[in-house]
Parts: sequence; structure tokens; C-alpha cells
Amino acid sequence: MTEQLFRADAYLRSTDAMITAVGPAGIELDRTVFYPMGGGQPGDTGTLRCADGRALTVVDTRKGPGDGQILHIAAAGDALPAVGEKVTAILDWERRYRHMRMHTCLHLLCAAVPAGVTGGQIGEARSRLDFDVGELTLDKAVIEAKLNELIAANHPAAPRWITDEDLAAQPQLVRTMSVKPPTGHGRVQLLEIGAGAGPQGPIDLQPCGGTHVRATGEIGAVTVEKIENKGKRNRRVIVALRDPAPG
Ligand SMILES: [Zn+2]
Repeated sequence: MTEQLFRADAYLRSTDAMITAVGPAGIELDRTVFYPMGGGQPGDTGTLRCADGRALTVVDTRKGPGDGQILHIAAAGDALPAVGEKVTAILDWERRYRHMRMHTCLHLLCAAVPAGVTGGQIGEARSRLDFDVGELTLDKAVIEAKLNELIAANHPAAPRWITDEDLAAQPQLVRTMSVKPPTGHGRVQLLEIGAGAGPQGPIDLQPCGGTHVRATGEIGAVTVEKIENKGKRNRRVIVALRDPAPG
């Protein structure tokens, strides 16, 4: 089982680690800073630098079938390392940080749109959430203004843990209807934005195992680019960071 360093510190850009398994599905480490694709957030990319100076390019990171298994996918043609070899695992931090900003922004979007979430996808430049809006009408300008207000207020965003039982007793915490939170390990990770922000409680609180920024101000200004009609009750809201992605 790989120690998931990004859970305690999403800002960790690199770590020393040891290769514990090498197979056709990917490379496993004893610990990693690489987030595996999940919850709409893409898997991390970066480099594994070996002690002899060799560098392997990690093109994707995925969860394996085993409990807590994380697979680092090497670029085709890279010479694979050996089990027991020491490496430094280095994130493509610019890409990951944009994912953290976008991911945290989608939590604010959940707060700005009072409807159930049916799906979502995070990208470096733009991201989307799909809502089951029912009779609700969404206004692009209103949502954009609300998002930028929540961003500018620089609310803290912090992980919190609750027990499976406490989560089961508060089903309203689960905003995403298509994804069941990862229960069964005794406790569930939540993300809380704006603890104590108002008499109604936090701005957003829901189970989430992704990586987020520490405060909403880090997201920077955003634009709601489009609201797409995805059927009678369903709307897709596409939001973009205003500073352009590199490359
Ligand atoms: Zn999240």
C-alpha cells in the first residue's frame, strides 16, 4: 500500500520514494505525491528521477485494483526501474496547481447552484459540473458574480474527517448523486470551505478526496463560459480560470 502524501499536504511537489512494484499496469512506490485520477480530477503527471540520473516520465496516475494501490504510468519506451530502486518523484506542479484551483472552484460552484450534481470534469483551463436543476433557471452572469465574490473573500478550505456513521446520519452532505463517497474504512474525508463563514454554516462541506487550495483567493478570477442544455432537467456549467494555461 502506497502512502498518499497528497492527503496530508496537497502542496508537496516531490518526495523521495522506493520502487515497490513494476508491472505492465504501472509503477508502484512506497509513498507518493502523485494524485491518481478520481472524482473528476485527472491523474498527475511528472518525473521519477533515479539515483543514477535516469529520468522516467510519468504520463498519468491511476488507482489500481488493490486497496490504496497507486499506479504511476511511465511513457512508452522509457526503461523501467527495478524494485527496490530509490527515486525522487517530482510532480508537474504547474498542471497540478491549476487542477487544485479548478477543483476548489467547483466546490464553490456547488455552493452557487442549489441543485444536485450529476457529474463533473476538472481540467487545467476549464472545468464543468452537471446539475439536475429541475425547475430552477440558471443565470450565467449571476453564477459568475457569486463565484468571484466567494473567491475574493478568500475563505479557508480545509480537509476534515468524519466517521462512516456520522456521514450516514447526514446524507445531505453528499452533493454528487453519481459518485458514492469512499466509505468502508471507518472514516471519510470531507472538504470544508468557509468554516464559520455564516449562521447557515460553512459555504460548502462535502465528501471529497481530491486536492484543493488552502484558501479560495488562490483560485483567482474565473469566467462562467457557458451553460449548456443537457436535457429537460440537466444543465452543464463550464467555468474557466482567467489566467491562461501555459503552452
Ligand atoms: Zn474536492
